[in-house]
Amino acid sequence: MRKILLMLFLIHLAIPKGKAWGFFGHKLANELAIYTLRGDLFAFYKSNLDFIRSHAVDADKRRYLVEDEGYNHYIDVDYFEKQMPIDTLRLPLDSLYILYDSSLLKTSGFGPWNLTYKYYSLKKAFELKDQMRILKLSADIGHYMSDLHVPLHTNSNYNGQKSNQLGIHGLWETRTLEKYHTSYWLHCKEAAYLYDLRSFIWDRVEESYILSATVLQMDSLVKTELTDAQEYSFEERNGKKYKTFSDKYVSQYHKLLDGMIEERLKASAYAIGSIWYTAWIDAGQPDLQFQSQIFEHKDTTVYREKMLGRQE
Ligand SMILES: [Zn+2]
Repeated sequence: MRKILLMLFLIHLAIPKGKAWGFFGHKLANELAIYTLRGDLFAFYKSNLDFIRSHAVDADKRRYLVEDEGYNHYIDVDYFEKQMPIDTLRLPLDSLYILYDSSLLKTSGFGPWNLTYKYYSLKKAFELKDQMRILKLSADIGHYMSDLHVPLHTNSNYNGQKSNQLGIHGLWETRTLEKYHTSYWLHCKEAAYLYDLRSFIWDRVEESYILSATVLQMDSLVKTELTDAQEYSFEERNGKKYKTFSDKYVSQYHKLLDGMIEERLKASAYAIGSIWYTAWIDAGQPDLQFQSQIFEHKDTTVYREKMLGRQE
């Protein structure tokens, strides 16, 4: 009996709860990104679809193991920019360290810089024709790029904690997406070569940040339209009752967002595919006809129950 209980405990620890786009959203974004590619590159990624999908969430799993990993998933634009467009943050990181306190820079997140760094690592992996590294980095880039397409990953009020809107993070990127994705038309634009990768990333961050105001405003609007009793319902999971947003709340919110989640998901896929494509072109378009097959190993890591650092 003790052995069974211990096993159940470990299984519980080994399955981190969905974060950011939610595990579902991240896997979907990585899969859609494959369909933005063409030719040999498409053939390579398509033959590794399972890997790219299942490892789309590795970056979030690392947040249960490594404290500093969390900073790679977001950027709090509002600490640095009083109005749009983003200009201060686009300065090289070295200059920002002169202007701002290093601990503020760290806690506000390194999302865009981390992504640029990962692009260089992917380019290197293509040059070395290191299949495993190409796949791991591609899956991670997919994760980080789609995180930066989530409006609340660019705002310090990331879970509505400053405006009495707690739970908005998961409502936008997990609950609503999971409920409505089957109604989306998920045809994505073909990937393109990015001549200015840094500007491309900051442009996406700027879009997300502008949208973050709408994400919060629409939620406030739902709250004014529904009575307290209509806002929440209770759900039973593993014998425990959880308070959650009611179906009515989710449906009103989705309607008010007017296609925003669908658009950000498709934009993520295009951006991910374009970074993969750019890294491959910049590496000299190496031949990707690998002889060996990548075999999946079972993840036996024991994760902590809680994320380290910022909780979403
Ligand atoms: Zn993330």
